[in-house]
Amino acid sequence: MGKDDAAQLGATPLERLERVIATDSWLSGIAGGSKRVTSVASYANYQLISQRGVGPGWVMIGDAFGFVDPMLSPGVFLALRSSELVADALGPFVQGGAAASPRELEQALRPYAAVQTAMISAWQDLVATFYDGRMAALFRAGRDWMSTGGTTLKRATQNHIERHIALQASGAGTTRRYSRRLLRFMGRHALRGVQPTEMAIR
Ligand SMILES: Cc1cc2nc3c(=O)[nH]c(=O)nc-3n(C[C@H](O)[C@H](O)[C@H](O)COP(=O)(O)OP(=O)(O)OC[C@H]3O[C@@H](n4cnc5c(N)ncnc54)[C@H](O)[C@@H]3O)c2cc1C
Repeated sequence: MGKDDAAQLGATPLERLERVIATDSWLSGIAGGSKRVTSVASYANYQLISQRGVGPGWVMIGDAFGFVDPMLSPGVFLALRSSELVADALGPFVQGGAAASPRELEQALRPYAAVQTAMISAWQDLVATFYDGRMAALFRAGRDWMSTGGTTLKRATQNHIERHIALQASGAGTTRRYSRRLLRFMGRHALRGVQPTEMAIR
């Protein structure tokens, strides 16, 4: 729901919830006579990373471990990749045949948890560049720069930057240190006067 539509329903989340239930026929059909039993919460940022992803006898994968805003669709990728990493870490125990203790399993899975935390953090950093307007500002600055005439060096530079952004956004190189540093650097020093705040998503 757009912010303007939400604002028409009332000034607070509670007013909006009550009004939308009262005025929407489908919602009032299922919740019209119901009694609210909690306060009304609203979430602006529902991203999270679990502080612990593994312990004795348990491990978390996918959304259970961490959730990234779906802006760039990394959720299924992260869920599948985390499953693969856990399977790889458990492989030697399956092949060995001997029963492993929960402590041994935790030990073997710890590197996975560190990798998954790093992956989710990198995705969250990348998504942040879309929300705060840096990515859109960078696109505009690059387009303006190229429109003043393209030399071979300029085209090569542009291709290099686009390649490293694509590597991050596709998941192939989201955690690559050089790609992340390049994006951070460009977001600070290569905006050619374009203001990210004007393109921020609020
Ligand atoms: C609005 C929105 C849009 C999204 N868009 C995209 C997108 O375009 N592309 C993308 O890649 N990702 C997207 N995602 C994220 C993606 O859906 C998730 O990251 C992905 O589904 C996570 O997979 P998962 O297996 O970890 O968890 P889930 O898909 O949530 O699977 C967990 C399963 O466990 C079941 N379960 C829970 N508790 C129990 C229990 N006690 N016993 C038994 N079963 C249980 C649940 O019913 C569920 O079926 C989006 C998410 C949201 C919210």
